[in-house]
Amino acid sequence: MADDTAAAALSDLREKFIRDSAGRLDDLTALVGVLAENPADAGALDETMRKLHGLVGLGATFGFNAVTTIARRAEIECQQVLSEARTASAELIDALGESVRLLRQEFARGGSSALEVSIGTPPNDLHVDVVLLEDDPIAHEMLLGILEKQGYSVRSAHTKGHALRLIDEKTPDALVSDVLVPDGTGYEVVSHLRELAGGKAPPVIVTSAVQGFLDRVEAVRRGADAFFEKPIDFAALVRTLENLLERTREITPRVLLVTTTDADTDFVESVFGSAGYNLRVCREPRRFDAELSALRPDLVLLSADLADAACDLTRWLRQKQGMTTVPVIVVGGDGSGEMRLRCVRAGADDWLPDGVLPGLLLATAAVRIERARFVRNLMEHDGLTGLLTHSAFMGHLHRAFHDHQRHPARKPSLILIDVDHFKTVNDRYGHPVGDRVLAVLGSLLRRSLRRSDAIGRYGGEEFAVLLDDLDASDAQRLIERMRAEAAALPHNDDSGSTFQVTFSAGIAAVPEGATEPEAWTAAADRALYTAKNEGRNRVVAAK
Ligand code: GH3
Ligand code: MG
Ligand code: MG
Repeated sequence: MADDTAAAALSDLREKFIRDSAGRLDDLTALVGVLAENPADAGALDETMRKLHGLVGLGATFGFNAVTTIARRAEIECQQVLSEARTASAELIDALGESVRLLRQEFARGGSSALEVSIGTPPNDLHVDVVLLEDDPIAHEMLLGILEKQGYSVRSAHTKGHALRLIDEKTPDALVSDVLVPDGTGYEVVSHLRELAGGKAPPVIVTSAVQGFLDRVEAVRRGADAFFEKPIDFAALVRTLENLLERTREITPRVLLVTTTDADTDFVESVFGSAGYNLRVCREPRRFDAELSALRPDLVLLSADLADAACDLTRWLRQKQGMTTVPVIVVGGDGSGEMRLRCVRAGADDWLPDGVLPGLLLATAAVRIERARFVRNLMEHDGLTGLLTHSAFMGHLHRAFHDHQRHPARKPSLILIDVDHFKTVNDRYGHPVGDRVLAVLGSLLRRSLRRSDAIGRYGGEEFAVLLDDLDASDAQRLIERMRAEAAALPHNDDSGSTFQVTFSAGIAAVPEGATEPEAWTAAADRALYTAKNEGRNRVVAAK
């Protein structure tokens, strides 16, 4: 989404703010009237203060600086009277009347024209260049139509040679390739793309219009991310491509706003919505936990109007598993005093008071989200091998298990790998050399599998792999090839000679009738145990 769109959205909102102001000012005039009748009416005074408060924030947002100043001064006066439980004095009521008159004048004047609409870099660039290789004219036509309808710009090829030329002209953002083409195979095109400097990132989908011709293991080995066979489910193909592209792009950040006031909601919605963020608003603080679980936000915004609840929610979030690193920004209020201190102590990262400019709010959010992602990435990856840590891997495993419960047609495979006689490697060559062996094996796993596959360092010299849509027999062939490669890999000791290391692996599909993921890991573990028992350096699938 371009800056223009964001600017247009804010400008529309500003128009609405000006239109609505007449109503707001009429309400204020009526309230001042009520107070003049009954100066002891604390409810009316409180309502007056709230209305003024709304104008403070909105005024600054939309370039009505004088509105902010006038409303803020009047708000403070109301606040003082209320906090001391006094009756509104005749002077105060006069001053309020005068403030409303001045506010009308300011609105009539139209505010400052220098409206801040610098939104920063939008998270998504929607232009996606896809190379499509398909020799069958009908299948080509259908894929082309569906991809273009999706908004992708497609470069068409009907032969391998043509596809290679298109890729060399410009590395595409994605490749959709048929396996069988007149002058070769789609696998060669995939390999060619993957060998280019920037060729690792683009998602690759391999299709086969001829049943039984697609070798899924070969496709993975060449670097494909997903595969579709006849009859091709076009909708699923497009969905998969979207998901893969999401992964390579910066994923759209998710923001959860907790507030009880509409003014905050309008402002935050316009700012984050127009910048392409995925925003969800929680209007009931007691639903905070449910909303957190549903959205899994990258950032939490708490309205200062929540007062003490903002501190409580922050403290609560900081103790919730998996949420400890999510940045929290408090928005609104005057950003000073005791409450700010308490929120910071509770673990809030920033406080952006009323009147914050949209550009600053977005920049602060972007920096916080980026840093939290960086920290989370460090926390989730093992330092030696770069693979997922045990707990991060288990997170993937649990999600895959529950996905399978909901969609039994998707059959993920779990592989547990244990290095053979690793104690001997340490004893013979020393621990640092042993470490190097683990790093090399980790990198072999990463190179041989897809980005969508979760690969973890399961224990000291144990690895775990989760394969998305390969059944146990394809998984076995794939891991078998990796086992042979690993066994042939020369490792260097410190004296310059080389030695070899093997591994054993156990593979398991989700066991039938399993109600807990533990049943799945236990099945893979038993298969691994069998592989060890049968002599090591082998791959065994669970029965
Ligand atoms: P096998 O699995 O074939 O039965 O024999 P093994 O010798 O590999 O036996 P086991 O799996 O029980 O031993 C694991 C050894 O791996 C013990 C430990 O010293 C070593 N190890 C675990 N983590 C690391 C590590 O991070 N670095 C190094 N260098 N060694 C490690
Ligand atoms: Mg072990
Ligand atoms: Mg071992």
